[in-house]
Amino acid sequence: MDKQENDKYILEQFISIYCRGNHKTPKAKLCSDCQKILEYSLKRLERCPQDPKPSCKNCEIHCYKPEYREKIRQVMRYSGKHLILRGRLDLLWHYFT
Ligand SMILES: [Zn+2]
Repeated sequence: MDKQENDKYILEQFISIYCRGNHKTPKAKLCSDCQKILEYSLKRLERCPQDPKPSCKNCEIHCYKPEYREKIRQVMRYSGKHLILRGRLDLLWHYFT
């Protein structure tokens, strides 16, 4: 798995944990809102012009639209906490924390 594939995988994990916890969506599914956030984030990731990609908080471009930025922050906060509680630090994504 290359870096970008790995980032995509982690992004999906984060959003699905959030969706399951907050929107009571069955495992391996996303509600339409969360699906939108995922698609948006994947697109931003693919189009990131910086190589190697810096942590988003250290990036000067801030390519996310404010509404999505706020949502993805909530997702990261919620799922980050969830993963820490379960000892899954290997999955912790530092980009948005
Ligand atoms: Zn959802």
